[in-house]
Amino acid sequence: MTKAFVAGWPVAHSLSPQLHGYWLQRHAIAGSYQAMAVPPHDFAQFIANLPQSGFAGGNVTIPHKEAAFSLCAAKDGEALAIGAVNTLWTENARVCGTCTDSYGFAANLDDHSGNWRTMQTALVIGAGGAARAVVHALIKAGLSKITIANRTPERADSLAGLFGPKVSAHRLDTFPQLARHANLIINTTSLGMDGQSGEVLSLDEASSDALVTDIVYVPLETPFLAAARLRGLKTIDGLGMLLHQAVPGFERWFGVRPQVDLPLRAHLLAILDHRSRQP
Ligand code: NAP
Repeated sequence: MTKAFVAGWPVAHSLSPQLHGYWLQRHAIAGSYQAMAVPPHDFAQFIANLPQSGFAGGNVTIPHKEAAFSLCAAKDGEALAIGAVNTLWTENARVCGTCTDSYGFAANLDDHSGNWRTMQTALVIGAGGAARAVVHALIKAGLSKITIANRTPERADSLAGLFGPKVSAHRLDTFPQLARHANLIINTTSLGMDGQSGEVLSLDEASSDALVTDIVYVPLETPFLAAARLRGLKTIDGLGMLLHQAVPGFERWFGVRPQVDLPLRAHLLAILDHRSRQP
């Protein structure tokens, strides 16, 4: 029986067991996918034990993505471009890794927008690990100008510095002016996650044909997406990114390329809805 995991700390919030469990059942695969709570001080040993563990591989989530990058014996081009690893497998007793977040982000936009790849300018809010994956996806898709706005300007500078002349760094308070010129606006910050309060960035000056997306998916409609919808802009939520980033790992471990479709989305939305009602 093929076994896979998601390792995080904490990990109870992860939707990956339900997501992979759904595909295992749909494809009648006698495999398993389990959540493993691995504290940071045990993570290096966890990786070292992996080749003998009986797992075909697994996912890593917060806070282990950068540590997994450092600890993998082999990394592909996606992992190197993003500086993080979220998908592991073993090969000849070596732990190998990739990062599927850029793929997941782009595949989600492909599902909902026929023309985002031909857009010129994108505005990315945030400069953390997820922003790096998003900027990589935007460069790969061929967008010619990417502006990054972040609360801590030094982090925006460092991120822009990794990607060359198409990418520039800005202060978060310049967001309204930057939004005027953006065809695609992406929130990659945890602002608005899980009902966190905070000021919602104003989209008043955004172009009326701008496409707005958020990679946070709890709540599904973040305050930022709600503001975009009220302003009449087209929006795409972040759940599809989570679903799509899981596809390459499942295919690698279990040998079947699974589909991201409406029944899967409905299944996960029901779980999120159930969780939101728990005290
Ligand atoms: P991270 O590395 O910790 O970066 C967090 C970013 O959010 C930084 O740019 C930070 O700004 C900004 N930020 C946090 N609180 C803020 C506030 N109150 N005001 C303004 N900016 C604030 O985190 P990450 O790994 O990039 O993840 C970011 C989010 O993406 C998380 O919510 C995560 O769950 C989500 N995510 C979703 C998917 C998906 O599949 N949909 C995949 C990956 C991540 P500073 O630099 O100023 O601190």
